[in-house]
Formats: sequence, C-alpha cells, structure tokens
Amino acid sequence: MLRVYNTLTKMVEEVQPLESGIVRMYTCGPTVYRDAHIGNLRTYIMADWIKRVLLADGCDVFHVKNITDVGHMRQELVETGGDKIILAALQEGKTVQDIAKFYSDSFHRDEERLNILPAEVFPWATEHIPEMIAIVEKLLANGNAYINGGNIYFDVAGFKDYGKLSRNTGADLLEGVRAEVDPLKKDPRDFTLWKAAEPGRDLKWDSPWGEGFPGWHIECSAMASKYLGEVFDIHTGGVDNIFPHHEDEIAQSEAAFGKQHVRYWVHAQHLLVDGAKMAKSSGNVFLLDELINRGFDPISFRYLCMTVRYRHRMNFTFNSLKAAESALTNLRSRIWVWKNLPPLDTAPPESEPWKKKFWDAVEGDLDLPGALALTWDMVRSDLPDQAKLALVLEFDRVFGLGLDQVPADYPVPEPVSAAVQRRKTFRDQADYSSADALRADVTAGGFLVEDTTQFSRIRPKTQLEQREELWPSVSSSREVESLLDRPAEYDFTFILNAYSYPEDIQRCVTSMLKYRGSYSCQIIVIDNGSTDGTGEWLEEFQANHPEMQVIHCDHNVGDAAGKNIGLKLSLGKNLIIMDGSTEIVDDLLSPIGAQLADESVGILGPYGLTTNDLQHFHEEVESGEADAMQAYCMAMRRETINTVGLMRECFRFYRNLDIDYCFQFKDKGYRVMADSTLPVVRHEHRQWTDLDDNQRDELSRKNFGRFLKRWGNRPDLLIAPDAQGVGSGFFHH
Ligand code: AMP
Ligand code: ZN
Repeated sequence: MLRVYNTLTKMVEEVQPLESGIVRMYTCGPTVYRDAHIGNLRTYIMADWIKRVLLADGCDVFHVKNITDVGHMRQELVETGGDKIILAALQEGKTVQDIAKFYSDSFHRDEERLNILPAEVFPWATEHIPEMIAIVEKLLANGNAYINGGNIYFDVAGFKDYGKLSRNTGADLLEGVRAEVDPLKKDPRDFTLWKAAEPGRDLKWDSPWGEGFPGWHIECSAMASKYLGEVFDIHTGGVDNIFPHHEDEIAQSEAAFGKQHVRYWVHAQHLLVDGAKMAKSSGNVFLLDELINRGFDPISFRYLCMTVRYRHRMNFTFNSLKAAESALTNLRSRIWVWKNLPPLDTAPPESEPWKKKFWDAVEGDLDLPGALALTWDMVRSDLPDQAKLALVLEFDRVFGLGLDQVPADYPVPEPVSAAVQRRKTFRDQADYSSADALRADVTAGGFLVEDTTQFSRIRPKTQLEQREELWPSVSSSREVESLLDRPAEYDFTFILNAYSYPEDIQRCVTSMLKYRGSYSCQIIVIDNGSTDGTGEWLEEFQANHPEMQVIHCDHNVGDAAGKNIGLKLSLGKNLIIMDGSTEIVDDLLSPIGAQLADESVGILGPYGLTTNDLQHFHEEVESGEADAMQAYCMAMRRETINTVGLMRECFRFYRNLDIDYCFQFKDKGYRVMADSTLPVVRHEHRQWTDLDDNQRDELSRKNFGRFLKRWGNRPDLLIAPDAQGVGSGFFHH
C-alpha cells in the first residue's frame, strides 16, 4: 500500500482509507482566468502518481479537482491592479464566463497531453455558492465567525488548532498573512469568508447578508465536503497552498463540522526555471504549449518530472528537458523493437525481483526517480526482451508515459524503405562505405537509422530532432565558447539581443548595414527564444548577409546571458550593444571609433545617466562623463571585456543591467562617457511598454535591489558623490 509524507503529521504514513477499497482525494485545481504553467502541471502530475499507485494497489479512487473560476476574480484584480489579458478580453466583449471556459479548456487539454487521468468530478466554484453560504451560516451559528461592515470573517482566535498544518504560530503566522490593512478584522489572522459586494460589482450573489461574493478558501471546504464527505482521505496541492489556503480550509471545515477534515495532506514542492522563481515579468513562465511549439513532446515533461522527487524543488532547464526527451525516445525505440518479437510462453522468474523493487520504490512516498533508475537497470539487464517489455508496460501503469501506445511499426515511405533494404544488403556484404552513403537517403526522408550489434532499425525523427537539425540552439551562455582571447578580425561588432517584434529587429539591423560605411563589421544577433517568427526572419536574412551571425537560444535565457553570448563571440575591435527599438541614422562608427581611442574611456553612448546618491538616476548628461549609460546603445573596446568581465546573469531583464555593467567598468578605473550627438534614434521600446504597471514595478524593485546589493556602498564610483546614505525608490529611462 502507498506510503506518503503527510504535511499534517510530518511523517511518512501508509494510506489507510476511511472506507476500505476506496480512497477519496481532493486536489486544489487551476485558477481559470490565466494559463496553468508547467509548475502547476508538475503539482497535478504528482497527484496523478498518487492516484495511479492507489489504482494499481487495487483501490478505487474518487478524485475531485476543483476549477477556481470567476468567483473572486474581480477581488484579485482589484488587489493586483488588473491583468492586461483579462481587461483586454473584457474590452473585446468577452464575458468572465467566456474567459473561464477558455482557460479551463486549455487546462483539460494540457492534462490530457500529459496523460493525467481525469478526476471523477471537476466542480466549478461559482456553481457551489449555496454550499459555501451554508458553511458560513454554520460557522456564524457555532460562534466561529463574525460579521463586520457587511463582511464575514473567520475568528481565528476561537479555533484552538489553528496553525497545525503549517506550524505557523505567533509571529511567523503574521508574517505569512498578506499585508493588507482591513480594519474590520478583529485579529489580522482572521480571514474573509464572505465579502459584501462593492457598488458596481457584476459578479455577486444573494446571501442572507445581502449581495456579495465568497472568500477564496471557502470554495474548497464546500466542494470537498459535498463530493467527498465531511472527512476524507487525501488532499493535495503545491507547497504555496499550505499557508494560508489549506490552514484556513482546515479551520473552516473543522469548526463547521466538528470533525477532522483531511487525513493525509500531500504537497508538491515548486518548480524553478533556470534556478529562478518563475515570473511573467522575467520572461521565464513556461506553458506546456510553448514546450510543444519548441519541438518537445509533452510527455518528455512528464518524464522529466519523474527524475526529481516531488518533495524536492525541481529546477527546470531546457537541457534537462532535452535529456528527458532523448531518454524517452530511446525507451520508445526499444519498446518498438520488443513489440516485434515473438511472445514468450511464460514470464521468466527473474522478473519478480524487479517488480518487487519497483513497487517498493513507488509505494515508498513516490520514489519515481528510484523507480526510473531501476527501470533502466532492468532494460540494460540480460532479462529476455519480451520480459522487459512486460515489465515496462506494468511499470508504466504508474509512470503514465503512454508506452502501450508505441506502435509496433511505423509507416515508412517507399523510397526510404528501399534505401533501408539496399543498405542492409551492403551491410550484409560488409560493404560499409556503400551502406553509409545510403544513410543520407534515409535521414533525408525524415528517418533515423540506429545500428546495434544485432540489428539496424529505423524510426521517424522526432520533431525535436528535426528542429535541431534545422536550427541548432543553445540553452545557456555557458554552451558558447568565448573567442575573447583571439585577436580582433573586424573594426566593429554589433550585438543585438532579439526577443520578438521582428519589424523592430529588421529596422535596427537594416540601419546597421546602411551606415556601416567602409568599416568591416560583424553583426551578432541573439535570438533569445522567440517563437513569433523573429527566428525565421533572422535565418532568412542571414542567408543573404554573411556578416550577420545568428545564435538561437531554445528559450529566453535572460538579457545578461543573451548579451554575454554576443560578447563572447565578438571579434570586432570595438563593440556596440544595441537594442531593437533603436535605429542608426548616420555615420555612428567614426565618432565611436574616435572617442573609444581614448583608453581611459570604458563605455560610450548617447544616453548618459547621472545620480548623486545611487538612488535616483537622471537622463541629463548630454556630453562628457556620466555615471552610467542606458542600454539602448552602448559601445566599448573589446579588449576591456577581459579586464571587466561579462555581465551578471542574475539580470534576466535589461533594466538596471546597463547601470550594473557600467559600474563594473568604473570599478576597474574606466570612465563612462555620454555623447548625445551620436546619430541614434529611439522608437517605442515595446519590451517595456508591453508590461503592465505591476510587472514594471516588480522588475524595477528586484533589479534595483541586485544593483544596490553590489554597488550600494560604492558612492566613490560616482562622478559627483555626495555622502548620503543609500535607500530605495529608483527610476530611470
Ligand atoms: P493556482 O492556479 O495558482 O491555484 O495553482 C494551481 C496549483 O499549482 C496549486 O496547487 C499550486 O500550489 C501549484 N503551484 C503554483 N506555482 C507552482 C510552482 N511554481 N511549482 C509547482 N506548483 C505550483
Ligand atoms: Zn483549494
């Protein structure tokens, strides 16, 4: 029987259902006015493994996964200042119900593509308002809730077990509570059960207390008790749900029903991307659709999740996803071969120990990494292949990779099969060079030949393999070898970090070519993970412009990392980093070359900044020395990079990276020089204007923090330092 780590008891416990033979399970489901990202999906995959192990153990599982629809949407919108996507949809005349339907459809599609078994019930929050009201009434009657200003709050002080799940007590507890000032609460820990509708609100429901709408947590208490009973077995979610969501859910349900709410709480740790928290504004929130658009099989993501224990943070990188896909392809290829073997009469006894090890692993708190490792040991063992096939298919009842769907045969087009036949004849005659020559015919047809000691097999290339052939890509700047120790080969290198907006890139690159004069120029464009056609345009343009070199990244590697790729590959005596929103309008290279000849100059550009206190940067340096240069256009001598170093890659977004890099130059004794007469103009900077206010604030704050942490105690680097301390609040551009 399955054993899992119970967040409530902090122990690994065997799941013993209340009613033998059936496990009742609730999973906090998606919020459907935005997309589910791969972190959310990881959490649902964990719940799926729990369900699959229980099913394999012979239990029935009754699984409820709620859909958090529009119920408290406006509330969250008010709190966060609005979401562009929703506002745009509303302006287009879509209703909130349309929006919820759209996102719940894509959530179901994602689950299906990941082979996540569908829940028995997917209840929608707004269809359970009467059930929520009934619980609130009970809480009022029991004295666990109070009304103030038309709102109803849960009275935390009166519930003695509060904090038992998260172990948040006293001061810690307050820290976790959202820093919202609601003077109507008796205790800041109290949370909203029902809120009176403010004037003008469309989403509201009648209640005994007038029109209003529910608080967030109450929906899970209502839907769980309706479909699973007042007490049930397993509740899952991500670790961010533990407090306050699940703590509050326990308080409400237990105070209302007077019984233990849930017996086993299971929480999945978060997924990080390239070691960082996913954030829309950092450009590193990934959706399953995007992985598919980049050529990956969605099941590769499921495979990748199997390589990390659910209770550990999982660091998602595209390299690890590629490795997962190639392992999965390898496994599928073997299965295809095994499926073509004559069946064995009986399973050999050597299969048994493998089975035992497998079930010990998956039942032991979902040790999928262990189960996967022993699967590969088994695959590489000398067990008969037919027995391997039977075991792999048995294990896949838990893995859920859909291995039973691997076809026994691929349809092979006639010219390819003819080439394969002839190749086989040559190989049988030990004429390997003729055989090798035919390999190209096979691969050109979209197939791959894999030769093993016993046989050759062909299989269709995966989408990812086809894509990589067309466009090799890098996953990080570390994969790019630095050429900085080589002598310069050009007068100038332009470096352009391209995200999207192909028209902008085209305008900028065209202007580089137009005004290069008689200088020898290299243009390096980093396609920083675009999926909007920018990469295609760059490929096409590059074909006719050998001076342009395009580096494709398989995702947005971040602004500093992208620029570092350009710096590492540069071979020009002078380098000019440009932004896609700029355009050159006259001879830029002569004045830059002349001014960079002064060896005391480190950075030169048209958009200088100054500050007195490291807090406020002003765009007022027309000419002469500046404290920093804005990233739209900054030039430097290539040789200085070896002294100054590359950019700090913790900057995933351009903002403040420019200032940070300038300080690296100043720290090494170089000057930053402004010259506003340089012939560059700026157009709309869409990378910035496309963000909403919250994203801008968040980026400014975080990146300013990074800058200050490193340079806050270095007012000596300023051209006009004044002795003031360094605080926060910072804007430039
Ligand atoms: P939400 O749509 O925000 O309610 O989240 C749906 C589920 O995904 C919840 O169980 C969350 O705890 C979980 N979740 C949110 N962010 C992450 C993340 N980065 N990694 C893994 N799970 C997450
Ligand atoms: Zn919930």
